[in-house]
Amino acid sequence: MPLSLSRPDLLRTQNFINARWCEGRDGRTLPVSDPALDVTIASVPDSGAADARAAVDAAYAAGPAWRAVPAKQRAQILKRWNALILAHQEDLGRLISREQGKPLAEGRGEVAYAASYVEWFAEEAVRAYGDIIPAPVSGRRMMVLKEPVGVVAAITPWNFPAAMIARKIAPALAAGCTVVAKPAEDTPLTSLALARLAEEAGVPAGVLNIVVASRERAAEVVDVWLADGRVRKITFTGSTPVGKHLARESAGTLKKLSLELGGNAPFIVFDDADLDKAVDGLMAAKFRNGGQTCVSPNRIFVHQLVHDAFVEKLAARVGALKVGPATDPGSQIGPMINERAVQKIERHVRDAIAKGAHAVVGGERHQLGGNYFAPTVLIDVDATMACSCEETFGPVVAINRFSDEMEVIAAANDTPFGLAAYFFSGDVKRIWRLAEALQTGIVGINEGALAAEAAPFGGIKESGYGREGSRYGLDDYMQTKYLCQTL
Ligand code: NAD
Repeated sequence: MPLSLSRPDLLRTQNFINARWCEGRDGRTLPVSDPALDVTIASVPDSGAADARAAVDAAYAAGPAWRAVPAKQRAQILKRWNALILAHQEDLGRLISREQGKPLAEGRGEVAYAASYVEWFAEEAVRAYGDIIPAPVSGRRMMVLKEPVGVVAAITPWNFPAAMIARKIAPALAAGCTVVAKPAEDTPLTSLALARLAEEAGVPAGVLNIVVASRERAAEVVDVWLADGRVRKITFTGSTPVGKHLARESAGTLKKLSLELGGNAPFIVFDDADLDKAVDGLMAAKFRNGGQTCVSPNRIFVHQLVHDAFVEKLAARVGALKVGPATDPGSQIGPMINERAVQKIERHVRDAIAKGAHAVVGGERHQLGGNYFAPTVLIDVDATMACSCEETFGPVVAINRFSDEMEVIAAANDTPFGLAAYFFSGDVKRIWRLAEALQTGIVGINEGALAAEAAPFGGIKESGYGREGSRYGLDDYMQTKYLCQTL
């Protein structure tokens, strides 16, 4: 099926450097495919070191003028960008769905979610206050200024092609930074369309630059940014191994870092929980984007007294999910991003079943074939199974039983990761105990949908550091300068 947009010029297939749309300098290209059909829908540059350097040159040159633009004007440009994103929600939603595979309703929803960060940071841009500090000695004035860090390099994953990049670019631009960005190789088209709209909104030349590269050449591009002392911050969302690599390699020039990495979220249902709400919460948290989210519940712990009732309610809901391509308006679960992703899910399910788990729904690839996996509920899961140790990143609910609060807290925290956790309980004292005991950056309490532009999103432990969204999200793109004046 051809990719048709009401504004065909939003389908951009070139790099965006210094306000010019350009091919990669060495002419190499990268196909972009639709994971539902495994067909190529576009061809983009497979860029290398020379393109990465050109992007930094442009961003560095544009820096002084951009930081000198009054915050109110920067905010107005961001507000125009927000309005344009929302005005083109349908086209952007289609692009997301075609290159990433999520159902069209979710694609449209992601556009609104991405725009909410642009709007939020437009509003925050004018509130980057410093401080006046009461001086400890007379005859002095002591002040704190907030300044932009400088050139920011943003590297993003494929699972939210609009939201991940918007929530990095928007705070960077709001703070007065300039940006070089490399979107994920599977989903570059949405980022390029967003850059087209940013250009239309009045973002000046060089302030935003997008360089596309294949997985094989991602390191070549990013290594240039890591080594270049003019790049003062790396903001990355993706896997923990790549995040650790970036942390090591940016040490040479001591850049500021924000790392939003993998998770292994626990989801706990106590015997005093409202089971219907818990099932609703799990459906919302687990099956968004077919389970391909970093906050997706990966280990489900259900109290033994409510285990069978919970599984029965859940199985009915999961068994009724409609699997299909994004182009089918009834689809609730799309294809996984690629064959590699399906193989990982299959390995986890087979490993669990071989070690004693049982599939009460699904348990194998979906009959549609290709990159589809059947929504699955596994019971009798334990901590030794691969699905408990690694992110499955697919539509698989892996259920463990528990009987004791202390035991389940210990199990939930028994992971190197610490991004999100969820629990359902009706006991106020238990709610406070759990909220404080869970070792994650985000805790959902009787709630499965957590992300919002007004809230700080990010992890602890090996899920990374730094926060996106909220007032903390702007601070990550600023540095603190102390001024001391003798009168
Ligand atoms: P990934 O780490 O493989 O890729 C992410 C980005 O890094 C891509 O742009 C890729 O091209 C780039 N990259 C890959 N190797 C690189 C290298 N050697 N040097 C520089 N850049 C390199 O992750 P993915 O498979 O695209 O995404 C899935 C992972 O991202 C999951 O683990 C998921 O939990 C995580 N994720 C986290 C969040 C969050 O907010 N915490 C959000 C979405 C996804």
